[in-house]
Amino acid sequence: MIQFSPLVMVPGPTPIARSIQEQMSRETIAYNDPRFVSDFDALILDLKNIWRCDGAAFVVAGSGTMAMEMAVSNIAGRGESVLVCSNGFFGDRYVEICSRKGYDLDTIKAPWGESVSVEEIDKRLCQKKFSALIVTHVETSTGVELPLYELAAMTRLKHPDVLLVVDGVASAGAAEFYMDWGVDVMLTCSQKGMGIAPGLGILWASRRAIEKRLSMPPIAESYVDFVKWIPVMKDAKAYWGTPPVNMIWALVEAIRIIKEEGVKERDARHRHFARAVRRAVSALGFKPLAEDGLAAPTVSVFLYPQAAGIKDEKFRSAVYDEGAHIAGCKGDFEGAGFRVGHMGNITASSLVSLTAAIERACVRCGYPIKLGCALAVLQEELLVSPRED
Ligand code: PMP
Repeated sequence: MIQFSPLVMVPGPTPIARSIQEQMSRETIAYNDPRFVSDFDALILDLKNIWRCDGAAFVVAGSGTMAMEMAVSNIAGRGESVLVCSNGFFGDRYVEICSRKGYDLDTIKAPWGESVSVEEIDKRLCQKKFSALIVTHVETSTGVELPLYELAAMTRLKHPDVLLVVDGVASAGAAEFYMDWGVDVMLTCSQKGMGIAPGLGILWASRRAIEKRLSMPPIAESYVDFVKWIPVMKDAKAYWGTPPVNMIWALVEAIRIIKEEGVKERDARHRHFARAVRRAVSALGFKPLAEDGLAAPTVSVFLYPQAAGIKDEKFRSAVYDEGAHIAGCKGDFEGAGFRVGHMGNITASSLVSLTAAIERACVRCGYPIKLGCALAVLQEELLVSPRED
């Protein structure tokens, strides 16, 4: 029998290119083998150069949540004022992480499906002296993208002492960003825009962020302490926690692919694909949660038409049976729709298969649609050049 393996169209992990998969299955060597040390050193240099980082880049075993913890623990100590913005599940997770650290914590919350505005953040930063501002670039629970360039520019210009921390888990490696926009710590992990298996936390820290950590007394956290990892990132032979050798090779290959495609071009491809998926799935009567101007390039959330009586789990398992794995909604929207990831090293063909699977699932679940109507929209969009979006 043919082995059935549905397309992974959840918002992480994302489909893994064969050449990346091959790196993960290479024979493992010691982390201090000169062949690995030179690969690692070149990788750190690449991460800094591509994303224009004047401080340090870190690659550490752990998930995105570990990277969230690592970012904040190193730039603010107990009693310091920290402002966290949240417009969804992962923003709320950052509030929860920060609430354990003894900060003088303030939050700005926007309704799920909306974005925290740059004006509102500016207003709050004017009211009090904050050490750090924390935002989520793409909120994976709602498919909303924050205007990062505008936010970083405003913060650097009007509040130059505030360190900006960005959760880029659902954006980095897919959406364009550069540290010199005014970002102090950007964090992500391997299983989203980079297109690798889960397991790596990846962070960029500005020179200002590193200086801040070096000016702080020892921090309570040990595994995620920048001070412990800086020597390793300068020379992989130094040891703090055993580097996941094969995952790091996979990242080397992922970065090679990103360089080959180009950061700008990769961003344009993601925005083009996102627009195509949104238009196609909307043609079936599913409503995107995020408005057009806020829609993320990497993940889309669609709500079921209320009158249709679609049973969420039944629908998503029908899509799975038809060949595409999509995710359920979170929080207030649980059961009300589904989430689709369209990031990393995916191709137009994946979107065609995804859309076709959704169409067939509609029919199987008795939701009346005309087969091919979403596919026609998708195909038209795919023929538009990414740059025309
Ligand atoms: N932040 C965002 C925006 C995310 O989407 C996720 C994971 N979906 C995380 C943080 C947490 O990452 P992980 O599950 O790898 O710990």
